[in-house]
Amino acid sequence: MERSTIVRVHEGLHARPATRFVKLAKSFESEVEIVKGGKTVSAKSSVKLMLLAVKENDEVTVRADGADAIEAVEALIGYLENPHAGLEESGAQSEAAPPQPEAVRPAEPAPDAATEGEGLRGVAASEGVHLGPVFAHFPAQIVPSAQSLLPDQIETEIERLRAAIAAVQARMDAALADEGLAGGDRGIVAALRDIAADETLVGDIEASIREGFDAVSAVVAAAAKTAAEFGNVEDTYLNARADDVEAVGRQICLALLGQDEVDLASIQEGAVLVAEDIGAWDLARAPLKRIGAVVCGKGGATSHVAIIARSHGIPAVLGVGDQVMALKDAREIAVDGHAGRIFADPDQRIRAEFEQRMSAAEKERAALAGFQSFTPKRADGTVIEVAANLGSLEEIEAAKAAGAMGVGLFRTELLFMRHMHLPSEDMQAETYAALAKAFAPYRVIVRTLDIGGDKPVTAIDFPEEENPFLGWRGIRMCLDRPHIFKPQLKALLRAAIHGNVKVMLPMVSDIEEVRRTKALVDECAAELDLDGVAYARFDLGVMIETPAAVLVAPALAKEVAFFSIGTNDLTQYVMAADRLNPTVAALNDVANPAVMTAIEMTARAGVEAGIMVGMCGEAAGRPDLIPRFVEMGLTELSMSPASIPRAKKVIANLKARRVETDPGDAL
Ligand code: PEP
Ligand code: MG
Repeated sequence: MERSTIVRVHEGLHARPATRFVKLAKSFESEVEIVKGGKTVSAKSSVKLMLLAVKENDEVTVRADGADAIEAVEALIGYLENPHAGLEESGAQSEAAPPQPEAVRPAEPAPDAATEGEGLRGVAASEGVHLGPVFAHFPAQIVPSAQSLLPDQIETEIERLRAAIAAVQARMDAALADEGLAGGDRGIVAALRDIAADETLVGDIEASIREGFDAVSAVVAAAAKTAAEFGNVEDTYLNARADDVEAVGRQICLALLGQDEVDLASIQEGAVLVAEDIGAWDLARAPLKRIGAVVCGKGGATSHVAIIARSHGIPAVLGVGDQVMALKDAREIAVDGHAGRIFADPDQRIRAEFEQRMSAAEKERAALAGFQSFTPKRADGTVIEVAANLGSLEEIEAAKAAGAMGVGLFRTELLFMRHMHLPSEDMQAETYAALAKAFAPYRVIVRTLDIGGDKPVTAIDFPEEENPFLGWRGIRMCLDRPHIFKPQLKALLRAAIHGNVKVMLPMVSDIEEVRRTKALVDECAAELDLDGVAYARFDLGVMIETPAAVLVAPALAKEVAFFSIGTNDLTQYVMAADRLNPTVAALNDVANPAVMTAIEMTARAGVEAGIMVGMCGEAAGRPDLIPRFVEMGLTELSMSPASIPRAKKVIANLKARRVETDPGDAL
């Protein structure tokens, strides 16, 4: 039995309409399928249905086979033609939810002699002081088993999987039954619940278990595969569903492992986030405005967690080591991001000192606010652009509020790290264009993908490397993987029609890398021409962050439009001191004469060739070094937004000539 019709569902079969359609299909015993453009999927799978991307006015066929096939086809066609008739509003979740376990919260404080008195020491990763309650974030690691199942273990493993899925669904039902759940959140939870119950996803997982994989491995693989399918659809809404699939996969894995998720979204106002390690993406999407300070067992001053913390003016002490375990049971923590010190459950004397320093910092912030709208200039009238380093569009508002004169470094890694799949060319083009529009007429410098080292990406298969920082990262990986690099270059060419987009390459150590990239840009432009897609050429620059690039800077300067000195990596490579290793943190010092000489050599090569020389490493925001960088000839300093007002003040004090902001000056 089958019938065709034109879809009249206004939003298409996305989200809620897809949920309703699947619920209706499941109410019939018959096998039910929906066909669009020659592609057939089960009408009982919301994942497959969403992937079919059915839009309003599309022609589809509904096909059913079974005892109630006629009723099924009639009801489903009826819904597609008149979606507002016949279905109740309440959504799909009506079963009673079983009682839920208590959320995991830190235990009662246990005084620990090691954390009293002098306090603990770590790496001073983001300045500022803060005193606040502890929010312990120690999420479970999901480690798939390396062993295959024996044939007699398979049925038990499938039972375990079904129980885990049921537990996740029950938890989501309980959330949906809560009347306090906001409308937007309700839609998200309902969509997640549908995914957890999806028959094709569950079918894929069970098939892997029957091949001998343990349930956790099977869930991880099936979620990655489905997420990749969502990622490949030319539809930004559906691209974002990939995150939902990943989130559900993680929930099922945690249930299989008998663990609860600690949700960063519930962090209380002014809390100190204490973690052994935290992913840059997890921190970036946390409610940063509520986080008072960050303390981590791992990480160094130029790790990406430190960079995000500095961007948002959140004090951070990282690289505390195993001692972080003792902190998770404290009630309150005082964090000194200048000195890299932490006091668990501080006594009255320390509390008073911190309270006094917090109020002084507040006064300084107010005083610096006056510098936000000034354009700093050198004695000869040259504008020194004080720009922002950003990692996502969510940070634009804070950067503009801080007085950013454009973006000197847009790290594109988060775009790639936030999904298990590669971001599409369209999605990237939209992101870069949104960035360009937000800062026009100031320029935005987008850095091409810089992964490897401390920034792995799930969708890219990285080899195990003995020394990842000396390995296959940045431009090296991109040139070896044109299927990853070309969509990014094309997206940048498309965004360049806004006129203020520039592009720079990370980890350059050989001039050939620049020449090969230029050839690839030409190839991308020719392909866009053939496809009739609008684009514009962009200025290409390089980051100077390897000693090799410093030594060939005069030759590089003839090939590119600008230099941007990446002091985070340059320091670790010049000093041979790992930027993530707290034990060599003292050597990892940009002010060391060896690193300052490398910066000076770069500046001289750029100035002599007449190209712009800027800096986007964290040193660009250091008040003690800014005067020397300006003297060397740097005309752009790009930094964490929170450092911008003070940097402008330092430059303004160099030559007390301030003028009102005129964005046109800076282009
Ligand atoms: C640098 O190395 O200085 C830099 C800005 O890049 P990242 O910190 O992202 O490696
Ligand atoms: Mg770098």
